[in-house]
Amino acid sequence: MSDEKKYIYFDNNSTTKPFKEASRAEEEARFANASSYHRPGLQSRFAVETARAKAAAFIGAKPQEITFCSCGTEANNLALAGVINYYKYSAGLSDISVIINPTEHHSVLNITRNPAFKDINFMIAPIDKNGLVDLAALEKMITPSVILISIMMANNETGAIMPYQQIGALCRQKSILFHCDAVCASGKIKYDAKKINCDLLSVSAHKMYGPKGAAFLYKKRGVEILPLLYGGHQENDLRAGTENIGAIEGFAACCEIITRDFDKINTHYLELKSSFIGELNKYMPGVKINCRDIETLPNTVSAAFDFTNPHQANAFMFNLDAAGLAVSRGAACASGAGRPSHVLTAMGLSELEAGSTIRVSFGIDNRVEETIEAVKIIHSAYAAVINAGKALENE
Ligand code: PLP
Repeated sequence: MSDEKKYIYFDNNSTTKPFKEASRAEEEARFANASSYHRPGLQSRFAVETARAKAAAFIGAKPQEITFCSCGTEANNLALAGVINYYKYSAGLSDISVIINPTEHHSVLNITRNPAFKDINFMIAPIDKNGLVDLAALEKMITPSVILISIMMANNETGAIMPYQQIGALCRQKSILFHCDAVCASGKIKYDAKKINCDLLSVSAHKMYGPKGAAFLYKKRGVEILPLLYGGHQENDLRAGTENIGAIEGFAACCEIITRDFDKINTHYLELKSSFIGELNKYMPGVKINCRDIETLPNTVSAAFDFTNPHQANAFMFNLDAAGLAVSRGAACASGAGRPSHVLTAMGLSELEAGSTIRVSFGIDNRVEETIEAVKIIHSAYAAVINAGKALENE
């Protein structure tokens, strides 16, 4: 479609366009049930196990430490609910605390709303103005009832990179489990699950040029969790349900490609980011870049505009889309709720500032010329809103 071609897609933290190799792997995948004991079934089993080895290699883990599931949301739920339920029901603990951070994705934050967890003490770690967890304060929060700390590797809205290595070291020192949501960071930060001392880590295929419908939870050998789904014995009894072989194989193909091309991909992201910020500074010097003073993901920019009311911010978003630029206000799944970003408000931005912020997230298909074009679009969308406001005042 020619229209689609003209559209500039800068919303890759919401989802990415699958690599050709991933789509091909998905299309050509075997259909037989990987649990069946006949030749086609065994071939499917072989495909899943080959994919597991590739996924494990991607994060420096062992294949037995990878549990495939359907999405990052499920991986995060399996990690938190799995640990809580194990300590509550299998270990019989009655006093359980879990520390999370206020800028986590809703697939972590909203686990606190599960009625089954009303007796769990969820504690919120303090953060600074960039959304980074305050390590000294985090350490002070640790009481004997804390069994788990869940803190993301990088924030999906601002790109802020958390001090995940120090958090891992702290958890290890205090014998507390550490879950790290690496859904947005994977493919943009090179990490090794063993070296960062995490016990559980979530990765989702569609955020790294893979198909929707596949993700995995890394669970360090020896860590005990209970499943979310009860049924067959798939995934070592941790995730019942027939495996989505095509999506899993497509995901594994991405793991390999990203490992091979990591430096090239990240250099490209940095070129796009630097060109975009350079253009924005040149033509719109008043725009504030959130988390400017800290290390952020190479593909992510969070930019705040100085609108004076929410209608201007809404009109601005509408204008951007109409002019052919896809960016977002925050996480895609929260945008529909029409509420200002919980990430930005937790960092201390007002509701208006949060609503006047756009997230720009580049992907490998983007070109430097698109960053120049995008700033032109942003500039005229902004000018249209401000001029409309002035015209109204003069009426
Ligand atoms: N965690 C983070 C940091 C995310 O950005 C997202 C999706 O936006 C998720 C978890 C949920 O992943 P999925 O869309 O695969 O459920």
